[in-house]
Amino acid sequence: MKFLVVSFDGLRPDLVSASLTPNICRLQSLGITLSRHRTVYPSETRVAFPSLVTGTTSSGHGMVGNKFVDRSVVPNRYIDTADAVLLDRLNRESNGNLMTAPTLGELLAGSSKTMAVLATNTPGTTRLFHHKAEDFGHVRFSGHFREACTPTAVLAELEAGLGALPPAPEKGEPDTSGQVWITSAFLDYVWPKLKPDVTILSYGEPDTTSHFHGTASAVTRSITEFCDAQFGRVLDWWEAEGRDAGVQIVILSDHGHVTAHTRVSVTYELRSAGYSPGAAPESGVDVVVVPGQVGALYLADRSQANLARLVETLMNRPWCGPIFTAPKNSVEGLAPGSFASTLVFADHHRAPDVYFSFKTDDSIDAFGMRGGTFYDNDRVPGLGVHGGLHPKELAAVGLMAGSAFRGRGLISEVPSGICDIAPTILHLLGLPVPAPMTGRVLREALSEAGPATPELRIECETLQTGLNAYRQELHRVRVDGTTYIDGATVASTSSTHRKEFEAAE
Ligand SMILES: [Zn+2]
Repeated sequence: MKFLVVSFDGLRPDLVSASLTPNICRLQSLGITLSRHRTVYPSETRVAFPSLVTGTTSSGHGMVGNKFVDRSVVPNRYIDTADAVLLDRLNRESNGNLMTAPTLGELLAGSSKTMAVLATNTPGTTRLFHHKAEDFGHVRFSGHFREACTPTAVLAELEAGLGALPPAPEKGEPDTSGQVWITSAFLDYVWPKLKPDVTILSYGEPDTTSHFHGTASAVTRSITEFCDAQFGRVLDWWEAEGRDAGVQIVILSDHGHVTAHTRVSVTYELRSAGYSPGAAPESGVDVVVVPGQVGALYLADRSQANLARLVETLMNRPWCGPIFTAPKNSVEGLAPGSFASTLVFADHHRAPDVYFSFKTDDSIDAFGMRGGTFYDNDRVPGLGVHGGLHPKELAAVGLMAGSAFRGRGLISEVPSGICDIAPTILHLLGLPVPAPMTGRVLREALSEAGPATPELRIECETLQTGLNAYRQELHRVRVDGTTYIDGATVASTSSTHRKEFEAAE
């Protein structure tokens, strides 16, 4: 049995349709759709894909954000995990502990099995799918970035056959050339020559296009259709040959998108409140504001009093959503009114002192898609973002097909998540699921029958906390001891808040 995991970065499940993604729909009719599939918090690419390959949340794997502050060195340094060369250096400096949980690639190698990666994401994301591929002679190819590719000799062979790696498209331009290159690399070389036990084929779209053109704009729809057509080439191969060769297909996305509607500047607002914020650790900066849709704040003075003051400052802002700090108890964080970061499995020694999300709502965007949010970036309103806890940011595509899975158009309504994929693959390969994996084997999706298949217990829970007028609510669901996040909200701000905010703008 072999596995092909195909990912569409940032694809919202509600964009999957017979007109836009006919090939995904074709596979749906042959397999089982995980209709309540979702990602982890923060709902960012370089948190979610490490969760895919480690089967655990950021509390386990330590990739706490697309960008984070490394406090293990003096002076502290700012890390952008899009940089594949930097990731390699960090991994070597930490004796192989860039990720603090074993990855699928390493585990497979330990059982003399192989994993291949083909991706058009950033160089850093590409590396994170299998950051130790070099150690085992496994292949990891980017559709654009040479620095993320290994081994060099195989890349040369591939380029001789397929043409040179196409250059990355200009910022904001949809990526078509890379999708064609990695698809051909799989069909023409990686499968026929290497037959890896597990292959990850990761299309970096429609994420980038959604960020620059909106959740369901014409250009986002067009690149989604394009990626689906590339997957269609793979599906043709699967139906002709791959299925009979025992290949199981898993389709997924790493998060959804919501629409950014109201811009704020966290740095400006913290400065107004008397802080000296900065984008990176340096002298004179008392709080590092990591840019992005998940608010991540690192304090120079980490005292309880300073933490409480910072969190209260955020809570008084109308754009502020759910807030998490290190746990005081099982529900509350150290800062009064905040939730414990353990509730969203985001507690790790690399985690910021404060994680917050921007306030979201269920507004409908210009393209008819639900989900809106405040945001802090330099782009115009109306474009796609993710990172927080709106259900449309968390919702992800999940679909499995092949002899190992129940199928023929079945729809599972049992909650599932990105951490469940690796344990399910290991289980089906007959390999042990190691303790650091907190995801579960998706038994309800497996064709293997028998008395061992237990009745699944599904329990929902709502947790609440807050301070003064600020109230926040977290929704979670538990399936057989595995907990998933359904979303989080804050109570609507008072009209006084709203007026103050408008005046400040
Ligand atoms: Zn992504």
